Amino acid sequence: MWKKYRRAIETVQAFILTGLPFLTINGQSALRFEIPTLKLYVFGSVIWIREFYLILGIVLFCLLFIAFVTVIFGRIWCGWLCPQTVLLDLNQSIAKLFGRKQQKTIQTLLLIPLSALVSITMIWYFVPPAETLKTLFVSSTVTSFFLVLWVAVYLELAFLGRRFCTSICPYAMLQNALFDKDTLIIEYDVSRDDTCMKCDECVRVCPVGIDIKQGLNSSCIACTECIDACRVISEKRGMPPFPNFKGRIVRPKTFWLGSITAFAALVLFLLIWNRPPVDFLVIRDNTPLPSGLNRYSYTIYNNGGNEIALELSSPDNVTLIGEHSIRLPSFSAIHGSILVKPSGKLEHLRLGISGGGISIIRNTGFL
Ligand code: SF4
Ligand code: SF4
Repeated sequence: MWKKYRRAIETVQAFILTGLPFLTINGQSALRFEIPTLKLYVFGSVIWIREFYLILGIVLFCLLFIAFVTVIFGRIWCGWLCPQTVLLDLNQSIAKLFGRKQQKTIQTLLLIPLSALVSITMIWYFVPPAETLKTLFVSSTVTSFFLVLWVAVYLELAFLGRRFCTSICPYAMLQNALFDKDTLIIEYDVSRDDTCMKCDECVRVCPVGIDIKQGLNSSCIACTECIDACRVISEKRGMPPFPNFKGRIVRPKTFWLGSITAFAALVLFLLIWNRPPVDFLVIRDNTPLPSGLNRYSYTIYNNGGNEIALELSSPDNVTLIGEHSIRLPSFSAIHGSILVKPSGKLEHLRLGISGGGISIIRNTGFL
């Protein structure tokens, strides 16, 4: 029975999605986008909004990965991993425990706490769980965000549900465009149609309400419920189930598309984790100052998980007027400015930071 594998995968997925915000690496969530500072914490590293090329790289990699999975495994995401499917399956399984009569009512009622859990989990990807729980019903922003999400998720699950998969979901439409003749699909064996008992068990269990006997339907989410239902009937007669998986996983496209995806993942990984631990940007201010004085604005980014102490200095014959010593907490940025007074004639200035094994020098103009 496929159901037990599907339930196991769905359980793991639910634990990962709700548990990931609780995982901290270098003192920060493993995966979280911090809205006030516009930075993305990603498994012990931080991506700043100015590093747009990395965000673009992540998006492109996700698209490539989706294309690879879809071309080879069809709508496996929809039936086995999509959070909406997982939630509706979980809801249905719990409601079934209360018997057929109450099932519908229990399903609708159960969606209320489930939607709340989904909403708060979504917030945890923006605000750390401990802070969310502390500010929930205290901060009006967090509270209103939570309540709006709760209502929206509830309405979507209760009133759209599986219809979302068949008529609205843009990913579903994209998947249909990516299919080829070898993509893994669930197909009814037409060659054995004369031996089919026409009991319609496969139709009754289908969550999206299609009849697999009528041929491949673009609404099919590959959930395998029809295979399991048919197996119960057909095995009694010593036959394999009529609907079953059809397609070829091992083929040239799997290797070349898989290799491109793996290569893109490797490049992205190297780009993110091979960045310098500290970045230093300097620009000269254009504000008028007494002759012989220039002001420079600087930004220092600490990309690492440790606090660092840095000294601002210049190898040129100049006096720096302003704060020289800078302490930078983990994953933080600091903006500051410093006045520079040269001892003689100066056309270019070298401004640097050093400390904790870091030494960076930037060249800039002097007027
Ligand atoms: S469950 Fe199997 S035997 Fe029954 S109608 Fe569907 S395909 Fe035919
Ligand atoms: S046809 Fe079968 S695999 Fe497709 S959605 Fe219905 S039950 Fe799931």
